Amino acid sequence: MSSSQQVNQFSQPQQDSPRVPRRTPMACQFCRGRKLKCDGLRPSCGNCNRRGYPCSYKPVSADQK
Ligand SMILES: [Zn+2]
Ligand SMILES: [Zn+2]
Repeated sequence: MSSSQQVNQFSQPQQDSPRVPRRTPMACQFCRGRKLKCDGLRPSCGNCNRRGYPCSYKPVSADQK
């Protein structure tokens, strides 16, 4: 009997996907609309503060699909 057990045992790089909550830069409405880099300062971010615009942040809904 010739039983040759050939098992492919190559080390497989386990894809470990770290569960990192995606950190979306919180940009206020104004910066979003103008595609500005919002520093996310509250209650008024730098851009709004400089222009004297009412800074408003849209509440992020956790249930987003
Ligand atoms: Zn902003
Ligand atoms: Zn703002």
